[in-house]
Amino acid sequence: MHRNITNLVVNSELNCPSVIQFAVEVLKVEHVMVVGHYGCGGVQAVVQQQSVGLAENWLGHVEDIVHNNADQLDGMKSSDQRSARLCELKVTEQVANVCRTTILRRAWHLMSKSTKAERGVRTGLRFLHGTFSMSRSQN
Ligand SMILES: [Zn+2]
Repeated sequence: MHRNITNLVVNSELNCPSVIQFAVEVLKVEHVMVVGHYGCGGVQAVVQQQSVGLAENWLGHVEDIVHNNADQLDGMKSSDQRSARLCELKVTEQVANVCRTTILRRAWHLMSKSTKAERGVRTGLRFLHGTFSMSRSQN
């Protein structure tokens, strides 16, 4: 399990992609899950434009999701509604980011090989899930 503030998959940093690479290529896990939760403290900080110091650099990735979905989020009546919808949009975006990693692309490419020798180097990866924990913990 890998966690970070708001559970982001940022392909330009090495921590999360390294965890995925090790799990998929070395441990040969079959399932990769991206898990979000309502009440996420990082998402709330972005919605409420809260000053959180250094972490604001990291949360800029969540601000990008806000900007890309401004039409939808601006139409919501309360910050709780915006926060809940942003939690959902964030998970969807992180699943897309996992799909964009070279690790997943390579795993899917290897799965498409037809000879036994080629399949011998493939990973165990079979499923990518985007899901929600019902926990409302603040992290
Ligand atoms: Zn959270």
